[in-house]
Parts: sequence; C-alpha cells; structure tokens
Amino acid sequence: MSEMHIAVVGGGAAGFFGAIQAARQFPQLRITILEALPQPLTKVRISGGGRCNVTHHCFDPLLLSQHYPRGGQVLRGLLTRFQPRDVLAWFAQEGVTLKTEPDGRIFPCSDDSSTITTALVRAAQRAKITIQNQHKIHTIRRQGDGFHLEWLGGGLTCDRVLLATGSNPVGYAIATQLGHRLIPPVPALFTLHIPDPALWALAGVSLPQVRLKWLGEELPRLAQKHREQQGALLITHWGLSGPVVLRLSSWLARSLHSCQYQGQLQVHWLPAWGRQKLYEQCQLLRTQVAAKTLGNYRPVRELPQRLWHYLLACAHIPQQRRWGELSGRELEQLLLQMTAKVYPVTGKGIFKEEFVTCGGVPWGEVDSRTMHSRVCPGLYLAGEVLDMDGLTGGFNLQAAWTTGWIAGQALGARDENA
Ligand SMILES: Cc1cc2nc3c(=O)[nH]c(=O)nc-3n(C[C@H](O)[C@H](O)[C@H](O)COP(=O)(O)OP(=O)(O)OC[C@H]3O[C@@H](n4cnc5c(N)ncnc54)[C@H](O)[C@@H]3O)c2cc1C
Repeated sequence: MSEMHIAVVGGGAAGFFGAIQAARQFPQLRITILEALPQPLTKVRISGGGRCNVTHHCFDPLLLSQHYPRGGQVLRGLLTRFQPRDVLAWFAQEGVTLKTEPDGRIFPCSDDSSTITTALVRAAQRAKITIQNQHKIHTIRRQGDGFHLEWLGGGLTCDRVLLATGSNPVGYAIATQLGHRLIPPVPALFTLHIPDPALWALAGVSLPQVRLKWLGEELPRLAQKHREQQGALLITHWGLSGPVVLRLSSWLARSLHSCQYQGQLQVHWLPAWGRQKLYEQCQLLRTQVAAKTLGNYRPVRELPQRLWHYLLACAHIPQQRRWGELSGRELEQLLLQMTAKVYPVTGKGIFKEEFVTCGGVPWGEVDSRTMHSRVCPGLYLAGEVLDMDGLTGGFNLQAAWTTGWIAGQALGARDENA
C-alpha cells in the first residue's frame, strides 16, 4: 500500500486531535499539520484565562449535548463515541492529570494551559507528525483524486485534507472554495452593553442567582424557549456579564445579531425570593423596623449594599427615608426595581474569557460518522469550522476534541465512507 499523505489545515484543538488519532490508527500515514501562526494551539493556550477549561464533568451524552445551542443534536451521537470521560483518559495517558471544579469545569491540575499544549505537541511529535508553523493556507484546489494546497510562497500536494481552521474567515472561504455552503458566522458568547453609568459604578458586584429575560422583538421558537435564563451575574464597567449573560447571548446569538444587539433586558435581582415574598418582607419591615432608614437596612441579605443603594436611587427614594415612612407607591416602585428592572441594551461587549462563533459549514453537508464532507470527496472537517458551538464551561473544547478524534478515526481508511 503506498503511503497516503494527509494535510491537516489548522493546528488547533481539533486539528491536533485529528492528526494524532489518525497517526495512531493508521501508522503508515504521512501527516502534516499546517498552522498559520508562528506556533500552534494558540487558542488552547489562552483558553480559560490561561488555565484551559479542557472539558466539563458531564458523562451523559444526552445531557452534555444540551449545552450546545447549535450542533447539539448531531453531537449527541458523536459524544457516545468520544466524550469527557475519554478526554480525561486521553490526557491521563499523556501524563496530564485533570481536576474538576465545583461548577463542573475541568482544568489541568497545574492550572496552566501549557500543560495541555505541551502534551499535544509531544504526542504529535511521538506520532511523527510534521508541524509546519507560519503556513497560512489561502487556497485548496482539487488535483486528481487529491488536493493542492497553497500558501504565500509555496504549495503542497496531498491525498486528503482535514480542515480544522476554527472560526478563521480564510478557513470558511476555503470550505466554500471546495463547494460547501456556509451558515453565516456570528459571535455566540458575549456580554451586554447597558448605557447606565450609575450601574457601571457598581462594577465588580456579583450575585449568585439572577433571572434575565430578553424582552420585545418576535424571537424564533428556539430563542423564545431560552429568552429567560437564571444564574450568576457580574456587573462590569460597561454593563452586565457573568455566566447567566453568556448563556443568554449564546442561545440568542442569531436573534441578537439580527437586531444588532439592541433591545431590552429585564432583570430580577432576587428570583429565589419572588415578588410576593419580597412584598411581604417589605411590609414586615415597615412595621418591625419602622425607625430604621432604608439606606441602612436592606430588605434581604442577598442584596449587596451597593446594589441596594443603586436600586433605591432608581426608585427615587432617598436613603434617609425610614421604613415606617415608605409609601405604598414607593414600595411598588422598589419592588419593580428589585424584580422587573428593565434596561435598554445598546450593544455587545467583547468577552475575553471564552469567545466562540456560531455558524459555519452546515452539518447536512458532513457525514457525522466520519466527519467526511458529502460535497468534496477526501475532505474532512472538524472543530469550530462546523456549525456548532457550546455554552461556556469547557463544552467548546470538548466539541473540538470529539470531532477531531472522529475525523482521525476515518482519515486513513481506504474506503472513505467507512
Ligand atoms: C479567549 C478564548 C478562551 C477560550 N476558552 C475556552 C475554554 O476555556 N474552554 C473551552 O471549551 N473553550 C474555550 N474557548 C473556545 C475554544 O478555544 C474553541 O472553541 C476551540 O479552540 C476550537 O477549536 P478548533 O480547533 O476548531 O479551532 P482553533 O483552536 O481556533 O484552531 C484553529 C487553528 O487553525 C489555524 N488556522 C486558521 N486558518 C488557517 C489557515 N488558513 N491556514 C493554516 N492555519 C489556519 C489557526 O491559527 C488556529 O491555530 C475559548 C476561546 C477563546 C477565544
């Protein structure tokens, strides 16, 4: 059997996993990773704030797949073949120990993403994979049964290609050169800009449980279902952030993009209490601590003092007002501020921790058993170049590991439909 040459375009999470798996499965293959940047695995290196949130502690493919606003249905099947448990085993075999944090995110015990990148580069070198950095592929053409790849100043001929260029626009362009359609890529994890300087002054205040609801605008069915989210919130110097905001932005990514990130957001600061319970609590305080000033006496401990003062100001109630003097109208105002405060949203911020793109090559054009293109024989796709993206928490890297691994299983098979 003559030596088959595989070119992996993109030295990221999916490209490395695909290349290493292919080399292990088919030792006779010649494999070259072509990476545009001076070093591979850049995103893995910066992921998780430099700690690399490798995957998530969820070993049930059905449950896990529900963390993917796009691509979840296909991933559900793929995760039965390679899931977080397999990622743990894979890295353990490479001498990397991982740990699970209380919220389920999994990191290397070293808390250093270079532990992960070093393990991947070593595994690739051991498998005799050639890594060519600073090779930004701009064109891939069919040549006979194979391909010709071109970069500035050079070219290479190969039998098969694994396209694993992440969310890079050149990668998307290459996919279309080879006959694929593209679901327009748009950002999927972002924070919200809220034009309220008084809110910005609270930057750093966080709450473990807040309920957000995106108001107005007719939303498609999927977005309708997810327009309300509950979870931890962080106030920033431009608006709102934290897991609950990222989750909302992820589920509503397309809708928010089409309304240019303009709309209205309703915030319930104390969902665990609910409006009625809060009302009863305030009524109680009006009699029980009638002489105390509102500024000095919060209705519930869960409400941070600075936020409480801000909400009082929003309700136009002076901090010096005594609980016993609070009028019925003021109480109504206060309840409104605490349970249904509406903010205008005027844009999105750029979240630096985890940023992904939804859209890409549609799943209908890929055989998910092999990650083989249904449009272009010999082309395989893995990672974010596909129309899939997950919530924050390690789900995006898991999708890259899974699709890369599955592509690697098939890349060297003689029968491409195997
Ligand atoms: C700041 C940040 C933090 C993140 N943190 C996390 C996290 O902690 N956990 C998590 O699960 N997800 C995280 N993500 C998301 C995660 O990093 C990506 O979903 C994942 O890296 C996608 O893997 P990939 O292999 O598809 O793409 P990438 O990792 O982006 O790899 C693609 C590679 O292809 C190269 N390339 C692109 N075009 C070409 C070309 N034309 N020729 C040659 N090479 C090319 C790129 O340079 C890149 O190295 C984070 C993302 C960002 C931006």
